[in-house]
Amino acid sequence: MTAATLANVAYLLSSALFILGLKRLSKVKTARAGNQMAAGAMALAVVGTLVEMETIPWQWVVAGVVIGGLVGGIAAVKVEMTSMPEMVALFNGFGGAASAVVALSIFWGTGIEGLDGAEHQIVDLRTAASALGGAEAFTSALSIVIGALTFTGSIIAFMKLNGSLRNGKPILLPARHLINGLLVLAGLGCIAWFTGVAAGPDQLLTAVGALTGISLLLGILLVIPIGGADMPVVVSLLHSYSGVAASAAGFVVGNPALIIAGAMVGAAGLILTQIMCVAMNRSLVNVLVGGFGEAATAEDARDYENVTSTGPEETAMLLESASSVIIVPGYGLAVAQAQHAIHELDQELEKMGTTVRYAIHPVAGRMPGHMNVLLAEANVPYEKLVEMEAINGEFATTDAVIVLGANDVVNPSAIEDPQSPIAGMPILNVHEARSVFVIKRSLSPGYAGIKNPLFERDNSMMLFGDAKKMVQETLKELREL
Ligand code: NDP
Repeated sequence: MTAATLANVAYLLSSALFILGLKRLSKVKTARAGNQMAAGAMALAVVGTLVEMETIPWQWVVAGVVIGGLVGGIAAVKVEMTSMPEMVALFNGFGGAASAVVALSIFWGTGIEGLDGAEHQIVDLRTAASALGGAEAFTSALSIVIGALTFTGSIIAFMKLNGSLRNGKPILLPARHLINGLLVLAGLGCIAWFTGVAAGPDQLLTAVGALTGISLLLGILLVIPIGGADMPVVVSLLHSYSGVAASAAGFVVGNPALIIAGAMVGAAGLILTQIMCVAMNRSLVNVLVGGFGEAATAEDARDYENVTSTGPEETAMLLESASSVIIVPGYGLAVAQAQHAIHELDQELEKMGTTVRYAIHPVAGRMPGHMNVLLAEANVPYEKLVEMEAINGEFATTDAVIVLGANDVVNPSAIEDPQSPIAGMPILNVHEARSVFVIKRSLSPGYAGIKNPLFERDNSMMLFGDAKKMVQETLKELREL
């Protein structure tokens, strides 16, 4: 069997494993195995590429595997659960950067170095299209644009998620749509220039340099105006872009496994983006030209009247008499790592004959599926997790709701105040329940930075403190009753 045939067999196997792995990721029970399967498939694809390339210098391969493996391994072991969203954003960015670098290297090797030097004098005036082939030149341009844009966009998303860039708030430049429009036009001009017009190494180098610079800048400018509760849409869109960039890079280097894996990531990211848009009740265009979450200031977000606070003992007494309880987890659950404690409380309540379920909002936490992952880690049965649409009609007949470190996803102003920055976003209707216990440390706002009138409602009681500690104390009181 030739090296090319062996490589193709490896690519075919890895593509089949990618598809099976992705399918398994759709269920919590099989997700871990699906992830391992996809990782194995990627390793197989890498081996296939190495076999196919035959003459590749092994010192480079070993150095790449050691450096990349160490950085990824250490980061994955050390990352806090609350920093996972930032890590996902960074990984998207690295994926985009890798694709752009692959396209740049191909372009450099064939388009520039191949045109240079005495022995290439005759072809010195070829354009990128005639040196690489028209389709390859265009695809490498596409890979550079999407990859570079994904890289800087993801770095900005990373900084917004960890609060180091204006605390996640939108940055709205004057005439930003005009600037972006001009940059897109300039980028298209560069693509046309380097694929069909620029002849000779110097002009090609200038054209590809300008295209890379414009794309890097566009990534920054497209993500800085997005903020507040709209970030889930951006993170999933950048995820999709990283897949498209990888797929385009696959076309450039003629690698089928990369084309298939990239296309799957691109499509999965796009479907996730659509789900996030529906969850926010916003169109993608609306998010991208938005500037969400700017209206509220930190002061008015903390300005509350008639807030009732309670303690673990009173909470336990009221929970004891409840026949139905719904738990609403949010980002604070991740911060406090309260998943095991809340599962214990849920089991104790069930022993007393209470029906307990968890209401899951699609954008709760800081990454898609954040709450599902945490609750699965604490072995909360998957059947107890109910999606927003399925549970929203049931709050009105529920005795008690425990809002555990959630804020924006239970903010009634989204459906009651048309002027609210989150107006139109579907929420969990916890305010309709008989009693609502809100566990959080203070009256500070959530990610969208706005006031939550739920805390002032007559049926709401605030249990101020760390989520894990408050749940543990309530559980202790419940056991003593
Ligand atoms: P929020 O960010 O709205 O609120 C979280 C609340 O948790 C805060 O008000 C905070 O209040 C509280 N909290 C923090 N630490 C603790 C702790 N140790 N113990 C108890 N409470 C704590 O979270 P939600 O889940 O309700 O909403 C998610 C928000 O994040 C949405 O706006 C969403 O759009 C956005 N987002 C979501 C992404 C996703 O993919 N899911 C990605 C990016 C953004 P206090 O400080 O008073 O304790």
